[in-house]
Amino acid sequence: MKIIDKMTPGKPFISLEFFPPKDKAEWPSFFKVVDRLATLDPLFASVTYGAGGSTKGDTLEIVTRLKEEHGLEAMAHLTCIGAYRGDLQCFLDSLVAAGVNNVLALRGDPPQDAPPEFSACRTLLHASDLASFIREAHPAMGIGVAGYPETHPEAVGPEEDLAFLKLKLDKGGDFAITQLFFDNQHYFDFVRRARAIGVEKPIVPGILPVVSLKVIQRIISLCGASLPAAYRAQLEEADRQGGAAAVQKLGIAFARRQAEELLERGAPGVHIYTLNRDEAILELVDGLLS
Ligand code: FAD
Repeated sequence: MKIIDKMTPGKPFISLEFFPPKDKAEWPSFFKVVDRLATLDPLFASVTYGAGGSTKGDTLEIVTRLKEEHGLEAMAHLTCIGAYRGDLQCFLDSLVAAGVNNVLALRGDPPQDAPPEFSACRTLLHASDLASFIREAHPAMGIGVAGYPETHPEAVGPEEDLAFLKLKLDKGGDFAITQLFFDNQHYFDFVRRARAIGVEKPIVPGILPVVSLKVIQRIISLCGASLPAAYRAQLEEADRQGGAAAVQKLGIAFARRQAEELLERGAPGVHIYTLNRDEAILELVDGLLS
């Protein structure tokens, strides 16, 4: 079923994002995490895709198993940077054959070791191109796209970036999921600006609970989201006072407050970047929707 058809106005949801563990030896414990988080009854669960196709087979296998063995509505992420149309078509056909009808259409980033010509001869340069391609290849497929409350790091400017979000949605995207953020005002302003230029489709906020200072520093250096100075100071103080456990406790409580406010103020649901953790996510979501 298309995810957009499962979204009901006034009925907030959570959704979960996983990444494919690199080492197959970790898969049994990964699927135990999935089992525990499936008890949260997420609207859907998505699985990331390594730009350039590095996790293609694993992403496909995991979304298939989420659907078949864990009863979850699954969505595969898919990136077009450096990809040939034929490879994308094969991936989409395999998803449909496996009964997975939802894709998050992304451009992706060039791998660090990519040669300059990496994407030059490929024709799908932006996520909007991929959204059009998917809509044409499989008209019945559900399509999500990415949005950036703090503006994508390469964008010419916030207004241009927002116009490209609208383009992705106009070309076939059913809804957007945002990049993570730690100040809800970024999300509320983003939605207001999007509505002002005619975006009517759902914009689902992406939430990441901080579970470690090291991990969050790496993530924000990659994605361009900002960590408010006051929150950073609190995390550092927690680390000094109580170490990793204290950081995680604070991170979960912070994300919980974020999620509560987002839902109270009209977000359609919250998409949780799980980092494949179960305890932290169970604690974050406990009673959130009741
Ligand atoms: P685009 O929408 O193509 O935008 C990229 C940049 O180009 C922006 O600066 C935009 O302003 C500009 N732009 C867009 N269209 C045009 C145009 N027509 N002409 C000129 N400029 C344009 N990455 C992965 O590799 N794997 C994943 O699984 C993954 N999952 C993600 C999930 C979410 C929810 C989010 C928010 C991001 C995810 N990413 C993932 C990261 C994403 O691939 C990067 O942020 C990437 O840099 C941009 O992808 P995009 O789809 O937003 O690109």
